[in-house]
Amino acid sequence: MTPDESRKLHYGSGMGMLGFLKPAHIGWTLGNLRDAAIDKLRGSAPRPEQARLHVEAHATRGDPASVLAALDDFARNRRFLMNVGPEKGQLLEAEVDRAGPEARILELGCYCGYSAILMARRLGAGGSVLSIEKSGHSVRAARTIIDFAGLSHAVEVRQGASGDCIPQLEAHFDLIFLDHWKDLYEADLRAIEAKQLLRPGSVIFADNVGSLFNPEDYLRYVRECGHYDSRSEESHIEYTQLPDRAEISVFRG
Ligand code: CA
Repeated sequence: MTPDESRKLHYGSGMGMLGFLKPAHIGWTLGNLRDAAIDKLRGSAPRPEQARLHVEAHATRGDPASVLAALDDFARNRRFLMNVGPEKGQLLEAEVDRAGPEARILELGCYCGYSAILMARRLGAGGSVLSIEKSGHSVRAARTIIDFAGLSHAVEVRQGASGDCIPQLEAHFDLIFLDHWKDLYEADLRAIEAKQLLRPGSVIFADNVGSLFNPEDYLRYVRECGHYDSRSEESHIEYTQLPDRAEISVFRG
């Protein structure tokens, strides 16, 4: 895990990596830090690159389900991957289905392409996923993995910071999946509103808003600003039994 990945995962990095953790999270976090230290000592490839190699060795080209299964296997048995994972993935898939086969989807935080594949495989010919990712390692791995899954026609992975990319976007999106740095959720949603990228019924799905990450400002905003009907879904941090939540907010207009 790179420092950027760690910051993305651990909202509020300015507080120090361990200072804000609840006791139940400490063992899991220390395990991730141990794995990252081992990888660094060994000079291992960046984790998205390791995941790409695992997919190419264990999945079937053109079969998205097998690609997701290979990424799940890597995350459970090799190294943690901050994918949305299969449990919260079901919540996300339900929102994709609700948006319909022609949905235009925007994702902030592509990482290895797991959620982009999960969403794109449910779309029809008119649907699309635009995924914005800052890390070059992740962009390169995600593009290859998405192509391996046979979904590069439906997914564009665009490299850049969300704050730079959002002002360049045009037209509305039916579903927006927030899964990048947790302390950017609120500012980026406000930027999305300012660019008029939402229309009534557009859904904002924010991952990792449970007690570990706790982006209070974002949750207060979507629940109290009056533009959204917002609900909280109980779940777990991907590949663990640690509690987590997703916030699903429908834009009223
Ligand atoms: Ca996530």
